[in-house]
Amino acid sequence: MSGPLEGQVALVTGGGRGIGKSIAEAFAQAGARVAVAARTRSEIDSVARSLASPSRSIVLDVVDEDSCQCAVDECIQFYGRLNILVNAAGISSSQKFTKLSTATWRKMLAVDLDGPMFMIRAALPGMLGQSSGRVISIGSTASLAGGRYIAAYTAAKHGLLGLTRALASEYASSGITFNCICPGFVDTEMTAQTIQNIVAATRRSPEQAKEALLSPQGRLISPEEVAAACLWLASDAGRSINGQAITIDGGHLVS
Ligand code: NAP
Repeated sequence: MSGPLEGQVALVTGGGRGIGKSIAEAFAQAGARVAVAARTRSEIDSVARSLASPSRSIVLDVVDEDSCQCAVDECIQFYGRLNILVNAAGISSSQKFTKLSTATWRKMLAVDLDGPMFMIRAALPGMLGQSSGRVISIGSTASLAGGRYIAAYTAAKHGLLGLTRALASEYASSGITFNCICPGFVDTEMTAQTIQNIVAATRRSPEQAKEALLSPQGRLISPEEVAAACLWLASDAGRSINGQAITIDGGHLVS
């Protein structure tokens, strides 16, 4: 398999479905060997089996620091190194701020902010040792702007972008880059759940609820579009892109 990621090893969290799955597929297609990690064994096994290059599934819960370290160790043991870390594992929730429980707040921050931090902390020594690496985290337009009913998600995703910018600055001369991809609503199960939540909370039909989530271009972002941006960042062409928030939202934030 030859391609822009020939010879590279990637670990994709959240690789069992949605955006992470598309990233794993794009990276494998580009020649990378990919470790696909998430909690649901059946999903990561199925993705790993279907990829275009030899792949491994790794059970991972990003809220558990030991689990993150083990996932990175397993990847390095199996493939000999880790060149690209993609933090795509994530959850969302929405409610009025007055209805936001402390437990939900903590869970959102644990998965969407602590998780990427644990993964980066586990992956960094190896990348520093090889003087190269790519860390790509899936933020959100909620990394850059506030929105109603998503205070915890917004806080976590702002934090993820802040972490990315800080590390890009701290390790600018290391050969490692840190970037966030910041999509609007993407056509995945997470968005399907958001649509169901809107339907349950309002009198809107599923079609009307979906309409409210479309980008100014009149559609949901596809997971493949997010994967294509990740591929660019991971490839040699992206080597000078560092500390950036790459927005993929059809122009929503500038409208
Ligand atoms: P998704 O379809 O729900 O997939 C989420 C993935 O994350 C699954 O593989 C899930 O697997 C994994 N995951 C969740 N909790 C985990 C945990 N504790 N440990 C390890 N893996 C975990 O969601 P998606 O739409 O692809 O979203 C992926 C990322 O993009 C998230 O960070 C999300 O915030 C971000 N994003 C999504 C949208 C959107 O509109 N969908 C927009 C902007 C940003 P298991 O449940 O099996 O662990």
